[in-house]
Amino acid sequence: MVAYLSLHDVCVSYGRNQVLHNISMNVEKGQIVTVIGANGAGKTTLINAISGALRYSGQIRFKDSPAPFPAYKAARAGIVQIPEGRRIFPNISVAENLTLGAYALKDKSQFASRLEAVYKLFPILEERKDQAGGSLSGGEQQMLAISRGLMSDPELILLDEPSLGLAPLIIQEVFELIKSLKEQGMTIVLVEQNAKMALEIADWAYVLENGVFVAEGSGKELLADDVVRRAYLGVKEV
Ligand code: ATP
Repeated sequence: MVAYLSLHDVCVSYGRNQVLHNISMNVEKGQIVTVIGANGAGKTTLINAISGALRYSGQIRFKDSPAPFPAYKAARAGIVQIPEGRRIFPNISVAENLTLGAYALKDKSQFASRLEAVYKLFPILEERKDQAGGSLSGGEQQMLAISRGLMSDPELILLDEPSLGLAPLIIQEVFELIKSLKEQGMTIVLVEQNAKMALEIADWAYVLENGVFVAEGSGKELLADDVVRRAYLGVKEV
């Protein structure tokens, strides 16, 4: 059986600097698949390749067809990339940020119901809808970034370090939200430095080091793995 999303021997270089080396991975529909890795391991590059924002060699297939390229085609096919928290548009309002997120919505008549769903998920965004995006707190900006992605009614969500710069309580909320997106039938690829929480919610996970996958397993297996515990979970003695 062919995976919902599959990568085979994907390589990406910036000029002469190759940052992803023969990456192969599978994501089944409805799963949360996590990629953990340190700063500079290539996590954002991997997400950008899947979303069509970067050229790559190798194969990426989505729903048994070559992954759409370029990025706007990926969006229309139901793939949405949610960038690191603060990359919302700071100078326009919360409502305008959300409107821009709906550009790939296939059925424009759904706009009002999407907006209602997002405001139901995050009532604070409705309260702040006329406020500039940049005036929100870090946690609220992350909620806005996720909501903007949800406006296009995506099937596959690519999440880039949603916990970055957030207080622990807000991080917990964000991870709860990710779980609820899965319960609503979405498929999620999550790249994170916050290895513990990302592995806890993962159906399957990969460890990325210097552009190479060095381990993979269920979230549970990797949480129990000695090497992962030392390198990514801050456990000194195992
Ligand atoms: P972080 O957690 O710090 O965001 P990351 O795992 O997401 O790191 P990437 O952002 O994918 O890592 O970067 C991987 C490597 O590629 C780094 O060495 C980085 O300097 C380099 N790199 C990333 N983007 C570019 C670019 N546009 N041009 C040249 N080099 C780049």
